[in-house]
Amino acid sequence: FDALTGLANRAHVIERLGEALAASHRNGNRSTLMLIDLDRFKQVNDTLGHPIGDKLLIEVANRISALLAPGDVCGRLGGDEFAVVLPDANDRDRVDVLAERIVLTLSRPFEIEGNELHIGGSVGSATAPLDGRVVETLLRNADLALYRAKDDGRGVHRRYEPSLHAQAEHKRRIEIALRDALERRELSLVYQPIVEAQKGGLTGFEAFLRWTHPELGNVSPEVFIPVAEEARLIGRIGDWVMHSACRDAVTWPDHIRVSVNMAAAQLKDPQLPATIIAALSHSGLAPERLELEVAEEVFVRDGSLTGVVDKILALGVRITLDDFGTGKSSLAYLRKARFSSIKIDRSFVRGAAGNGPESVAIVKAIVAMAESLGMATIAEGAETRNEFDKMRGLGCRQIQGWLVGQPVGPQEAAEIAHT
Ligand code: C2E
Ligand code: CA
Ligand code: CA
Ligand code: CA
Repeated sequence: FDALTGLANRAHVIERLGEALAASHRNGNRSTLMLIDLDRFKQVNDTLGHPIGDKLLIEVANRISALLAPGDVCGRLGGDEFAVVLPDANDRDRVDVLAERIVLTLSRPFEIEGNELHIGGSVGSATAPLDGRVVETLLRNADLALYRAKDDGRGVHRRYEPSLHAQAEHKRRIEIALRDALERRELSLVYQPIVEAQKGGLTGFEAFLRWTHPELGNVSPEVFIPVAEEARLIGRIGDWVMHSACRDAVTWPDHIRVSVNMAAAQLKDPQLPATIIAALSHSGLAPERLELEVAEEVFVRDGSLTGVVDKILALGVRITLDDFGTGKSSLAYLRKARFSSIKIDRSFVRGAAGNGPESVAIVKAIVAMAESLGMATIAEGAETRNEFDKMRGLGCRQIQGWLVGQPVGPQEAAEIAHT
């Protein structure tokens, strides 16, 4: 047994899974393997220390065990990964309900020695005999489902399905192709204008990354940025984006800024200030003309990242809270970090222009809050005159979107900047 949690250890889990599979083979019953991975264990263990990490694992074990029925087996596979074997899983609904309850119980904060810890967990499951008849297959397939759960934003349960193999294969192809994308000059930047809402004057451009691969075609940054983060390629790609954006922006008139999107992994990189300084000094761009955009969700997931915001501001660079209102907002981080501006997500722009009373109320509240905290507001994704006018009417300071301008290449952006 696992010395720490008192649950079955890896060998024991695998043995019991083997028994359950043999039994289902004889009597035709289904049995399920659930893999549970904690979403934010490493951060806690690294920052607060092992004794707290250990206590947390024991608490997790208790919470999971409390949900199980007699005959179910629960174990720790190692690290922060747990497994549950349900030898009698004929009731598919029970499997789903149990997985949901595990996700829910892990999403509730843990109180350990005065620390309130938000850990969360993802669950992947595979059920014999359909998803595999032997231990290795079931383990691999439950693991694929777990990966899917993490890709889908963590804190969810995903069941194995055969199409996961093709999806994993596609992701692997993207990862391999991405490794060479920089050398092969397949990456480029496009720039979307941002204008001042009242008078319409150009205030800056937001840089969007584009990747065209000879066989995969145009791959969306929403697809390849997460892959780049996982494969630890984001550092080099992010450096290239920052250097290129600064180099392009320095040719624009002095009052026009450039905004660069940042992935979570870039913000966590201790080298980030050095990267920013290098990009500014190589290009000669004034720091106040560079604006970094970080999605709200990044701060909701990891509150300690607010410390990085101060370091960035200290360089004289601006920082925008992107996609505001879509992350499971906690607002707590707004007390700790002073952002230069807030970007209101385009779902609210859509909602407010459609006269959704909730969206209108939320936009009004965001604008009022931003004003009193001394932050600017930017509305993104305005596609119609109506959306533009609505956001201007609600007091947004800046607006961008297809109505104002589509993203264009560096040359065209420079032309727009000079007119
Ligand atoms: P985002 O920062 O929220 O960027 C806005 C997305 O909406 C962009 O999609 C943009 O092209 C698109 N958009 C702009 N105006 C409109 C509009 O009026 N209507 C609609 N429907 N869409 C509009 P894109 O370029 O596909 O980028 C998607 C996301 O990928 C971005 O979301 C950003 O999070 C990420 N991303 C893009 N470039 C970079 C980059 O250089 N680095 C990092 N880390 N992330 C990037
Ligand atoms: Ca983990
Ligand atoms: Ca953005
Ligand atoms: Ca957005």
